[in-house]
Amino acid sequence: MVSSQRRDLSNIRKGRWIAAVTFGILACFLAGATSAEDCPGHPNALGTSRTLVVDPREHPRIGTMQYLETLPLADHEVVLTFDDGPLPRKSNQVLDILASQCVKATFFLIGQMARSSPEGVRKLRDAHHTIGTHSQDHPLSMDHMSLERAKQEIDDGIASVRAALGDDADAALAPFFRIPGLLRGDNVEEYLAAKGIQIWSADFLADDWRHISPARVYDLAIKRLEARGKGILLLHDIHTRTAVALPRILETLKARGYHIVHVVPATAERPATPTEPSEWLMHPPADAIAHWPQVPEFVFEDLGSLPAPARADFDEAVDAPILHERLPSRLSWPQPELGPGDPSVTLAAPAPSLFEIQGSLDLAFSGAALSHRAQRVASAAQHADAKRASQHERRHLASGYRPRLAHASGQAHRDRQKATKARMTERRPVKRLVQVRRRHA
Ligand SMILES: [Zn+2]
Repeated sequence: MVSSQRRDLSNIRKGRWIAAVTFGILACFLAGATSAEDCPGHPNALGTSRTLVVDPREHPRIGTMQYLETLPLADHEVVLTFDDGPLPRKSNQVLDILASQCVKATFFLIGQMARSSPEGVRKLRDAHHTIGTHSQDHPLSMDHMSLERAKQEIDDGIASVRAALGDDADAALAPFFRIPGLLRGDNVEEYLAAKGIQIWSADFLADDWRHISPARVYDLAIKRLEARGKGILLLHDIHTRTAVALPRILETLKARGYHIVHVVPATAERPATPTEPSEWLMHPPADAIAHWPQVPEFVFEDLGSLPAPARADFDEAVDAPILHERLPSRLSWPQPELGPGDPSVTLAAPAPSLFEIQGSLDLAFSGAALSHRAQRVASAAQHADAKRASQHERRHLASGYRPRLAHASGQAHRDRQKATKARMTERRPVKRLVQVRRRHA
């Protein structure tokens, strides 16, 4: 009897001990998950350090590549932006990578892409990324198109993304817009400002639309960030090279003490983050006054001489059919990637040095091949004296490329494509020379 009681007591104690140990392990696990806070299951994630709420009406244009102001970021703060999606598979890869690091970004969507992949738009919403727009058809002519056409591009792009978001459109679509190719125009800027839409240029690029390796995308992203210490990075979620480079970019940001900032628009319930006007200037006010209004110089290649993306950039059957089937041959793509010895390469290849950072000079070149004229322009800029280099600091060599546009089915779409083709054909003659144009901001 006594022996039996002792055994029961022993069992009870043993049970309590097991319960205590189990509870302890559970508590430790929960505590661990809690300490990872923003990124459960990814304790070493980069994470998103803070949310910045901005009022587009107070700051209608941002990004020092073209404008006086940029986001009020502290040193070592970075805002990631992705253009031209959503494109199934590629965008999903990017989303998975961002999710694995608990990083929030801003996506500038093309209306046609949203119409073809509305579920891709909703995935962005569900992952709580910020959604802005990037026109309906991604025309590389907003710097000189009529206001009516520009309005149509802007409004249709917004309508397409709103249609994909459905009832959530008001809450999920930010009044943020990025001009295709960053080809700004006064009338476009005025129209967007009147609508309370903030124009996002960028602070630096990684040239991920060009025929460069993922390693090169990584190098450019990190070098250009290190040169500035903070800023808005422009990437694309429709390219394999970007998806391949992205994990290493995020790991390096984490290792070097950078922080990701998530930007959202102010609303009635969510007031803008308090900031000082000077925080919106990348450069000290004295510098800004000396060099602003800036005269951005755009060097672009006409549509006829655009580089084509590599075939490897495209997914096979999974992706929707693409626009090249509908375009005239001179615009058709994807085209096979041209090897260095290919006799059909008629344009001079740029020297590797052209793509290195030269002090504060940031030149982003479009295309896998530049004309001699472009190289002369770049070379002159690189060897200019300090004053001239300063003037060139905001120079942007806008990209002359068109993203792949997935198309919807049906006669309506075919009619739209026909209209687009007609517009593109009449818009610009095919030229090989890179044009250098100056315009006042
Ligand atoms: Zn774009």
